[in-house]
Amino acid sequence: MINELTKIMPDIHFMPGERFAWSPAERKITYTESQIEADGRWALLHETGHALLGHLSYKSDIELLKMEVAAWEKAKELAKRLGLEISEEHIQTCLDSYRDWLHQRSSCPACGTNTLQNDLSSTYGCFNCHARWQVSPSRFCRSYRTRKAETEFIML
Ligand SMILES: [Zn+2]
Ligand SMILES: [Zn+2]
Repeated sequence: MINELTKIMPDIHFMPGERFAWSPAERKITYTESQIEADGRWALLHETGHALLGHLSYKSDIELLKMEVAAWEKAKELAKRLGLEISEEHIQTCLDSYRDWLHQRSSCPACGTNTLQNDLSSTYGCFNCHARWQVSPSRFCRSYRTRKAETEFIML
């Protein structure tokens, strides 16, 4: 499969690594070899989706979620080209884990009210109790395997 993807995208480097990830700066996709046979294939197609769409950076958590959805759409097209099919359930599970994570980040640590990110610097403000906080920067492809409670809150 790596060979086939390299044919489709000769300018992208596919390399074994610790997790599935797309790094725009190096134009490199890493994958974990142990999972390449199972749903790792889907993860790999998903990363290739980011690469094909030229995803570089995002300005907010919501934009990141949109890019995740788009990368899965692209992954489905790619899968078709390669005669594969990605389970819709798998995609929804991945996106749900993103939504949960975004919900966690945007919930006020002081009173629990859900808020919207209000600027481009990962700062949130609660319109209920007026607490302000920052979260650790978001990144592409937080899969449900690695997602667990990584959010760090810094009260401002
Ligand atoms: Zn609050
Ligand atoms: Zn992704």
